[in-house]
Amino acid sequence: MNLADSEVVMGILKSNGYEATEDLNKANVVLLNTCSVRDNAEQRIYGRLGNLSELKNKKKDTVIGILGCMAERLREDLIEKKKIVDLVVGPDEYRRLPEFIDTAFAGEKGIGVKLSRTETYEDIIPFREEGISAWLSVMRGCNKFCSFCVVPYTRGRERSRSLSSIVDEVKQLSDRNFREVTLLGQNVNSYNDSGNDFADLLAAAAKVDSNMRIRFTTSHPQDLSDKLLYTIAEHNNICNYIHLPVQSGSNRILELMNRTYTIEHYLGLIDKARKLIPGVSFSTDIISGFPSETFEDHLMTLDVMQKVRYDGAYMFKYSPREGTKAYKMEDDVTEDEKAKRLNDIIELQQSVSYEVNQETIGKEETVLVEGFSRKSDEYFSGRTDTNKVVVFPVASNIKVGDYVNVKINRATSATLFGGIIQVEVLPKAETKLK
Ligand code: SAH
Ligand code: SF4
Repeated sequence: MNLADSEVVMGILKSNGYEATEDLNKANVVLLNTCSVRDNAEQRIYGRLGNLSELKNKKKDTVIGILGCMAERLREDLIEKKKIVDLVVGPDEYRRLPEFIDTAFAGEKGIGVKLSRTETYEDIIPFREEGISAWLSVMRGCNKFCSFCVVPYTRGRERSRSLSSIVDEVKQLSDRNFREVTLLGQNVNSYNDSGNDFADLLAAAAKVDSNMRIRFTTSHPQDLSDKLLYTIAEHNNICNYIHLPVQSGSNRILELMNRTYTIEHYLGLIDKARKLIPGVSFSTDIISGFPSETFEDHLMTLDVMQKVRYDGAYMFKYSPREGTKAYKMEDDVTEDEKAKRLNDIIELQQSVSYEVNQETIGKEETVLVEGFSRKSDEYFSGRTDTNKVVVFPVASNIKVGDYVNVKINRATSATLFGGIIQVEVLPKAETKLK
């Protein structure tokens, strides 16, 4: 989401005559786009600011600014107490960035941290380098108020971009030969543009270009609709992959988290999705050590992981965030215990991912070629529709952006390896529903 926001910021700055530089020493303005979701993300920014203060000592007229969620949370600390930065601009005030930069060049502090109920930046063309995959924010903010989460406070109330502006942007991306777009929102299931829901938006985006893969994140388990599942099933170019954060396997903890679903409801959704969308893959988010989490609660989380057999997971230690409801609860799981539980969760997920990936051996997967593999220019890397990374030998008739069929011959918990069978014009025209 922050990458997408940085592209919006670049779009705004470019149209005001700014250019990006790769060389920090040449920059007149340095902006850090920040995340507040967990404490370690904020600590990294403090680390970066430490390095930047050296640059500022050498080149006094460099403007240093903080963008994003930390702006709202920590402006007083950053501007007034620590005096490290010249401007602080929150996620809904990027249009005024050129004005704030001018203020900062004039020697005043530039501060814009108001949250908006309407800003979606839908008329701004984000600046994107040429590429295969693009992020596209379809909504901003969140109204869910999960008790651990700072997002509703730092990014404000939920609002949706118009369907037509999103479809237009997908068209522009298709014209520029992008092959994949990921629609972003904190809870895409509550997308609403004059009665068009997220399933309508997905269908409209999928129709733009049948050769363009459509992905989306994130779905909240409370309101993932049947209509959405049918829409994924119906359109061959909507990827068979759902990121469905469970957070915990214990109903007691889910209630304290204000997640508004039970594990039974969650498992029911997974079953239904697997029936309607054969071969669908799932990933999740899990938090270890939420206040009052007992070892039994932890075992329930491991149990859910075993039941669902996720293809992948993002796993975190609970991090108390000021201003949230959970912040008032006692953070009573020790750091050691949180780390141990997180370790159990990671180990289990790795072994499940390994087993799930072994099942692909001998099968053919359609892969969108993204570029050379991280380790060698003799191998390409790409992704399956189900979001698995596949590495295979480079061939002269294949280029980045092609769809190829790869036969898998080896797999680890993170990567599938194989050989090319054929270059395909994909996705195929027929629908997935039989
Ligand atoms: N809107 C998305 C999540 C956005 S934040 C959703 O509801 O799924 C991404 C993930 O960060 C969350 O799913 C959660 O697992 C994790 N997270 C958020 N706040 C956290 C906190 N205070 N401590 C630890 N992990 C947290
Ligand atoms: Fe945070 Fe919950 Fe909103 Fe996700 S749905 S952004 S976890 S409040």
